Amino acid sequence: MEKSNSRRDFIKKSVAIALGALASDMLLNKALAATETAGKEVIPDAGQFKLMPLPYAYDALEPHIDKLTMEIHHGKHHQGYVTNLNKALETVDPKSIGDSGVLENIFSKMDKFAAAVRNNAGGHYNHSLFWSLMKPNGGGQPKGKLGEAINTDFGSFEEFKKQFTDVAMKRFGSGWAWLVLNNGKLSIGSTVNQDNPLMNLEGIEIKGTPVLALDVWEHAYYLKNQNRRADYIASWWNVVNWETAEGLFVAEK
Ligand code: MN
Repeated sequence: MEKSNSRRDFIKKSVAIALGALASDMLLNKALAATETAGKEVIPDAGQFKLMPLPYAYDALEPHIDKLTMEIHHGKHHQGYVTNLNKALETVDPKSIGDSGVLENIFSKMDKFAAAVRNNAGGHYNHSLFWSLMKPNGGGQPKGKLGEAINTDFGSFEEFKKQFTDVAMKRFGSGWAWLVLNNGKLSIGSTVNQDNPLMNLEGIEIKGTPVLALDVWEHAYYLKNQNRRADYIASWWNVVNWETAEGLFVAEK
């Protein structure tokens, strides 16, 4: 009896872990689907991490986000994270990352890795997500289940927008603002540098599955907006891809 209970518990746990991994892989695939990548990224035996093309032209987000910023942000900054991630992983045993060496597996064991992996794996993941969460003629309000959940958890879309903008404004220095889903509830927070809410680390102020991500590093807006982060954030609301956000929300909910 006892034996069968513990066996049942073990199976239950295994299934939960498998489902967790599946949801995680789905999330990454979903986020990267818009960048036309095929399947999840596996390291390093299946090759190295690669910079995927943007799912739209560099000038497609004009006039809200300018072409030159997008070119440098994607082609130089994001490429740099990818290059340095591959370099940082050269000395890492792939077995230490798990069967499917996806970025989320790295984040779940973040304390086992060097700072270079943390910074560059975060940089690669966060930017992949960020590109997929924007589109030309975006903006407006989320429809469907995410729209409903925002109303439930924040009172209204306007209140959510106000709180998210406030958090993004108050992130001192370089970092990201996030909308995440955690235990069925949406919440807003920010992280420093290239940290993200999936990283299993002390000191990360917000935990959960990303639904919306905003890069507030100066490299994301300095050419066009200089020091005016508020202008950049106001522009960014016009290019939010709520369909991708809805997809991330529904995949995890
Ligand atoms: Mn950036």
